[in-house]
Amino acid sequence: ELYNQVQDLKGSIRVYCRVRPFLSGQTNVQSTVDYIGENGNLMIVHPHKPGKDARKVFNFNKVFATSCTQEQIYDDTQPLIRSVLDGYNVCIFAYGQTGSGKTYTMSGPDLNTEETWGVNYRALRDLFQITKKRADVIKYQVGVQMIEIYNEQVRDLLVCDGSNRRLDIRNNSQLNGLNVPDASLIRVSSTQDVLDLMRIGHRNRAVGATALNERSSRSHSILTVHVYGKELISGSVLKGCLHLVDLAGSERVDKSEAVGERLKEAQHINRSLSALGDVIYALAQKSQHVPYRNSKLTQVLQDSLGGHAKTLMFVHINPDVNAIGETISTLKFAERVA
Ligand code: ADP
Ligand code: MG
Repeated sequence: ELYNQVQDLKGSIRVYCRVRPFLSGQTNVQSTVDYIGENGNLMIVHPHKPGKDARKVFNFNKVFATSCTQEQIYDDTQPLIRSVLDGYNVCIFAYGQTGSGKTYTMSGPDLNTEETWGVNYRALRDLFQITKKRADVIKYQVGVQMIEIYNEQVRDLLVCDGSNRRLDIRNNSQLNGLNVPDASLIRVSSTQDVLDLMRIGHRNRAVGATALNERSSRSHSILTVHVYGKELISGSVLKGCLHLVDLAGSERVDKSEAVGERLKEAQHINRSLSALGDVIYALAQKSQHVPYRNSKLTQVLQDSLGGHAKTLMFVHINPDVNAIGETISTLKFAERVA
């Protein structure tokens, strides 16, 4: 409730920055993060710029240091997620270059280890717990869809038969959040159900790719949780949906090096990430025209961006000095939408 008031004051977009720790083996590596302040400030030090130009401060709603646990991240995400049960539409994005920790934040490093579960599983576990608690008052149904957008084509990740057909997007308010009506919508009632689906999703994501990591870094994956609730006494109905989006890597590909398929992928990714930035920016500016139509990503999420919907963007940075160029461009992207 307090959270909603804060949201109203600051607009409906929050930006959290998470700094990935150095991985084991990376000892004595210089960090580009100079300090992290109390109020969402972060100072970056540029390794190759002299004097006062070397330091730049960025400002977000929150900055999570490398020591931050998955639980702490979830604590600051939970109010948003719970609002889905009150009928809100919510989008949570993971943005950043490949290797910066997007999948770690959203899914975690390992499905089998509950302690390190990411936002996705914690969110569903939380939703199931609350729906059980409210069962005397509201009867909820929870369903999930999981799609991938690769080269501006939408595919269902929950098909069991391995079919990999392209799906259409329909923006029809009658469908309320079901913007990809032909993607499998599967009823779930426990985290075990969700884990089983995730395994199917991960397997399907690998289809047609030489290596899973390769493909997953060049497509957007969207896990959508649809919630339908009916109040037992009044009979009134509420609907909310939560989109959990692991975006394609934001790194710019050197045009002189990339050719063929790789170049095409890179162009699709660049275009869709800028389209997302443009939509969020237009919403923040309360602009008359919001350019949803410029990418499949923003079309799929149209009902859940703007209006009464709530948006949270996790931007990830890799503190390695070699990543400085991407780190600065990630932080600039984030600052524009914040
Ligand atoms: P991305 O999805 O952005 O490409 P990953 O989430 O796959 O990046 O992270 C890259 C590597 O860094 C993985 O080995 C992952 O386990 C590790 N990693 C990322 N974030 C963290 C973190 N906060 N704590 C520990 N390890 C992390
Ligand atoms: Mg990833």
